[in-house]
Amino acid sequence: MTCEDHQAAVAAVDEARLLETAVDLVAAPSPTRSAGEAADRLDRRLRADGFEVERPEADWPESPAVVARLDSGAPGRWLQFNGHLDTVHLPFAPPAVRDGVFTGSGSSDMKGGIAASVEAMRALRDSGLPRAGGILLTAHDHHEAPWGDGRQLRALIREGYVGDGVLLPEYLADRLPGAGRGMGVFDIRLTRPGEAVHEVLRPPETPDVVAAGAALVGELKDLDVRLTAMRHEVSGRDSVFVGQLESGEIFNQAPVSCRLRGTRRWVSQGRGEEAREELTALAGSVASRFGAEAAVEFQVVGEAFELRREDPLVEAFQAAVEANDGAALPWADKPFLDDGNRFCGQAGIPAITHGPAAKGAHTTEERVPVAELVRVARVYAATALNFCRDAAEGSG
Ligand SMILES: [Zn+2]
Repeated sequence: MTCEDHQAAVAAVDEARLLETAVDLVAAPSPTRSAGEAADRLDRRLRADGFEVERPEADWPESPAVVARLDSGAPGRWLQFNGHLDTVHLPFAPPAVRDGVFTGSGSSDMKGGIAASVEAMRALRDSGLPRAGGILLTAHDHHEAPWGDGRQLRALIREGYVGDGVLLPEYLADRLPGAGRGMGVFDIRLTRPGEAVHEVLRPPETPDVVAAGAALVGELKDLDVRLTAMRHEVSGRDSVFVGQLESGEIFNQAPVSCRLRGTRRWVSQGRGEEAREELTALAGSVASRFGAEAAVEFQVVGEAFELRREDPLVEAFQAAVEANDGAALPWADKPFLDDGNRFCGQAGIPAITHGPAAKGAHTTEERVPVAELVRVARVYAATALNFCRDAAEGSG
């Protein structure tokens, strides 16, 4: 890896080619679980560019994933670019470019970022780079919740489609997310035996599930206060949050169930099981106080995540950002949970979330400056040159 290599790769990033790919991907609507057409388009583009493409079904035959490689032929680290081709289920907005801004469904989240990754790979290939290791590009469906459950990425990782480190072009550009909390979603039902009945016809001693639900909200509030003790210097603190409380059909009927839904987040890896047990015990004790029963569902959405500051991927990435933008990024928390948590937890590889400074993710007003897409392509190409070297040569 030399300075000339960097200059060559960065100069080979082609804005028009990048944008053409981005427009092509956005033009194929791809709500989560239906990303097949977008995947086929990416496949065709990569083949037209001369890359060999693999299409592993990876637990979602409706839209097989897209995998391509750029192999230097020499030993060294492999850098993975991973993106999701699916978009949230909102009315489709077609692609458009106006005044240097690219808009349309998935432009921000994250087809623009995928196009930038593809362009980084093309720029390296056109420059005869990297000289060691290689690039693994993976793109998949089933990312956006609640429509997707992450099964395609889980399967890709299980089937070995992983590099030695991964970059994910989500719309986050102002920080290097060094740590992030794990999250589980809980769904608690407090129930009583019998049927719904008019208030005045209730047998005495009928358990009051609404009161039980209210008491549980209070207990969870107290738990949240206790959880402030579980802290991490970067990602914040453990928390429990109730977002939904539902019960009753009409004002004068005693209902049979009360439902609470919310999130539990934690800062240290592997706390998911403990959190589940804690919630189950708490809901059970509140329910029994009211003569009701509790059923707790708890789905771990993602594990807590942490990067080492001295990880070779972190160093390679920060050097690339500094060379391109003039300053390295501040080390900060990752505000959301993304596939980086899965790469870290399931594959055990370092993952950096970094993409364009885009706006409007998860709305019908997605928009991203074209200059940002080009910047991301350059940073990805430069990171690859810093990272994809023979680990035996020394630290990267
Ligand atoms: Zn996304």
